[in-house]
Amino acid sequence: MKLHEYQAREILAKYSVPMPPAEVAETPEQAREIAQKYGGDVVVKAQVLMGGRGKAGGVKLCSTPDEAAEFTASILGKKLKSIQNPEGMVVERVLVAKRVDIVEEYYIGILLDRARQQNVAMVSAAGGMDIEEVAAKTPEAIAHIPVNPKWGLWEYEVREGLRKIGFRTDKIGAMASMVRKLAQAYNAEDATLVEVNPCALLSDGSIVAADAKVSIDDSALFRRPQWQAFADDAADDPIEAEAARRGIAYVRLDGNVGVLGNGAGLVMLTLDEIARAGEKAANFLDVGGGAQAERVRECMELVLMDERVQAILINIFGGITRGDEVAKGVTEALAKLDVKVPIVVRIEGTNAEEAREILSKANLIAAQTVQEAAQKVHELLSA
Ligand code: GDP
Ligand code: MN
Repeated sequence: MKLHEYQAREILAKYSVPMPPAEVAETPEQAREIAQKYGGDVVVKAQVLMGGRGKAGGVKLCSTPDEAAEFTASILGKKLKSIQNPEGMVVERVLVAKRVDIVEEYYIGILLDRARQQNVAMVSAAGGMDIEEVAAKTPEAIAHIPVNPKWGLWEYEVREGLRKIGFRTDKIGAMASMVRKLAQAYNAEDATLVEVNPCALLSDGSIVAADAKVSIDDSALFRRPQWQAFADDAADDPIEAEAARRGIAYVRLDGNVGVLGNGAGLVMLTLDEIARAGEKAANFLDVGGGAQAERVRECMELVLMDERVQAILINIFGGITRGDEVAKGVTEALAKLDVKVPIVVRIEGTNAEEAREILSKANLIAAQTVQEAAQKVHELLSA
């Protein structure tokens, strides 16, 4: 789960990460007062859960409290859009930070590197811009330092990593200290990402985190009540948020076939078969083992909330889950909801016979195998 910059700063402050002072404002008046306090020279930053706010027009360097208030008024309540986020996100707050005099910009990211199968600290002297671009053009300019999940980083490990990328020797000590603190925060706070871009070298020689991004591991939210409470309204996708509230394993994908299955493996196989048939799934949804009719109905509701869904494929292999219970849930959902899309169902295993009996009365398309079900979905969508 992504956190806002002001929340990320709260976390980093616990690890004494040096940052320019800043406060959150929810009105132009508040922004003005904060700017006044900092002497007028401030940066006003939209607090939205997306990167590239600068390019999207969500960050402004201001020189007077009036300017800070004006810019705040101009973005509050508005949607900030970027290439990655064409739909945009509404700005509800801004962060007013004391403006610092940046001489150089660096990049630091602590994250799980799935290819390397370890946590790594990625550090580059080419900060400020997209790290993806740096990675593509000059991969040798990025240090990858493994972060031990228990011990974090040793000073010498960071220093060595920084030396390898030719980081300026006079700032290796200060930079190493910054990287180690971020790694400590990453490990201790159940983070999946701690990113500082830019990490800024100031004209006074100090190094500060001029931006902060933290994501918390969703699986650790049960022991992070503060972030759990925030998670509900923070989800990128309202359907994912609703799924989280209902405790349903749901992941949004980018196709148009709604998928329901029992068991993660079976759902993945269903996604593969849909892809093989030339279509794309709109979601991953696991109704779970032993699902009852009520649960299945809830899952159906969830999938139907998605306007992109043009067909639904239900794939159930009954074990503990009883086919007839699933069938009941599906027919209940059909009776209750105004379903406008075709539904293809394949049910095998426990009580499959009874399930087919129940489903035959409803307006559904039956399939014997997953392949056949996927093929039928494909035919329906290409018709
Ligand atoms: P992002 O675009 O969402 O990553 O937002 P940032 O917080 O990183 O701000 C965008 C850019 O504004 C940064 O890359 C900096 O170049 C610049 N910036 C942010 N804060 C300051 C500051 O205090 N002083 C100066 N001179 N530039 C700043
Ligand atoms: Mn940034």
